[in-house]
Amino acid sequence: MEYSQIRQNFERHGFTTQLFSSKEEVCTYLADILQNQTIGFGGSETLTEMGLFEILQQKNAVIWHNKTPGVRVRKLANCADIYITSANAVTETGGIVNIDGTGNRVAMTAFGPETCYYIVGKNKITANISDAYHRCKNVAAPLNAKRVCAKTPCAAKGDKCYDCNSPDRICRIISVIERAPLGMKCEIIFVDEELGF
Ligand code: SF4
Repeated sequence: MEYSQIRQNFERHGFTTQLFSSKEEVCTYLADILQNQTIGFGGSETLTEMGLFEILQQKNAVIWHNKTPGVRVRKLANCADIYITSANAVTETGGIVNIDGTGNRVAMTAFGPETCYYIVGKNKITANISDAYHRCKNVAAPLNAKRVCAKTPCAAKGDKCYDCNSPDRICRIISVIERAPLGMKCEIIFVDEELGF
């Protein structure tokens, strides 16, 4: 599906959208509009690959547990008025699916910030909710489990979800966002390149 149609589908669901051809353009866009803000980041390989923390930190207070691990930092990030994250998968029809281990990202994308930005590489776009869920479980979660050195079968074998019962299981809370939550401005920033998991 063309980006124009995907954007239209999200906008019909209450999101604003942007489209950029590179992560550098996204960094410039966000650095322009976000200054003197307190910004929380969700755990995200996309944000790491963009170097966005280092850029926004110059003119904002950015809180990210990837830089300072711990529950307290996650709680602080979840008090911010601005939240930036990626998504494990989005649908062409205008929905977002995320899987969390601790639930901090799922919580903030449902309620809390005044504005939530999702940065979405083209590899995250799926046809429908079923494909999005499949991507979350069999692509994003195994790679994320490997990234955090979780002792799970998916991290060891790297091929698919084994629906494990490991103490390290990172799939504990799943959210499906069908419409932008009431009272929250949500912007989907599409990037026409592969980003993150
Ligand atoms: S349920 Fe377990 S095996 Fe499946 S993706 Fe999540 S952590 Fe990996």
